[in-house]
Amino acid sequence: MEVILGKLAGFCNGVRNAVEKTEELLKNRDKIYCLGELAHNKQVIKDLENDGLIIVDDLNEVPNNSEVIFRAHGVTKSVYQLAKEKNLTVYDYSCVRVIKLHEDVENMNNNGYYIFLFGDNNHPEVIGTKSFANSEEITVLKDLKEVDSAINNLKKSNLNKLYICAQTTFSLKKFDELVSIIEEKLEKNNNDDNIEIKINKSICEATEIRQMETENLAREVDFMVIIGGKNSSNTIKLYEISKKNCKRAIHIETKEELENVDFSKVSKVGVMAGASTPKKSINEVIEYLNKRSM
Ligand code: SF4
Repeated sequence: MEVILGKLAGFCNGVRNAVEKTEELLKNRDKIYCLGELAHNKQVIKDLENDGLIIVDDLNEVPNNSEVIFRAHGVTKSVYQLAKEKNLTVYDYSCVRVIKLHEDVENMNNNGYYIFLFGDNNHPEVIGTKSFANSEEITVLKDLKEVDSAINNLKKSNLNKLYICAQTTFSLKKFDELVSIIEEKLEKNNNDDNIEIKINKSICEATEIRQMETENLAREVDFMVIIGGKNSSNTIKLYEISKKNCKRAIHIETKEELENVDFSKVSKVGVMAGASTPKKSINEVIEYLNKRSM
């Protein structure tokens, strides 16, 4: 059995930066707080917790005057404010791309643009980004079903300029589909008052390229192994792509989950991992598969 590892398997730059800097900090202190899980991966979190990382869901749980880490997903505007009030020392490891999106949303909204943000309303990155616009002047939407109500919200706001952007991990294909439907509907509805539209494809290419590589690899092999947290949205997406393009696919967090898998009829196995999956887990799986193929 041939084992092929995708070139882009594992940590993206944003997550790698946050994890490596946190590991550095923990070398010379007993504990440090982190708002939310640093990476959607149980193994990574367990190792960091053993070294002193304390994960909290709410900044109010962090004692005043202590140190706190903000993860790659970014945080809301009010969290920055609360950190100031509590006199916290903040290590802000929000991904540079997420910070740029916050700045763009804030600037465009200040300049009179209504914001359409494509993404998942419950995702921490979206919750953070949303907070940088006036709540009456932004709508989060993720599929065609939500386009009409988003346009209604835009009309109600009386703004005649629209800024369209997306969660950094949003699908590029879906982005283009939604934009063309919105443009079409606005053109039809508009009559006299034309709405000026500015589009920012704020999607991180790391995500797109990894998805494309997964699709190509899945077509080439007869079994795909996707490694990553079961709660990691980008890993779930890789698994969905694999199922669509390959006869067999499995989503695992650790190599132990492969023990009962029958590889007897498999000649080529492809391995891919999500953006929060550490090298250690990937290497363990590769080693295990190589052993099974002997
Ligand atoms: S996927 Fe891209 S935008 Fe998101 S944290 Fe990673 S590098 Fe940053």
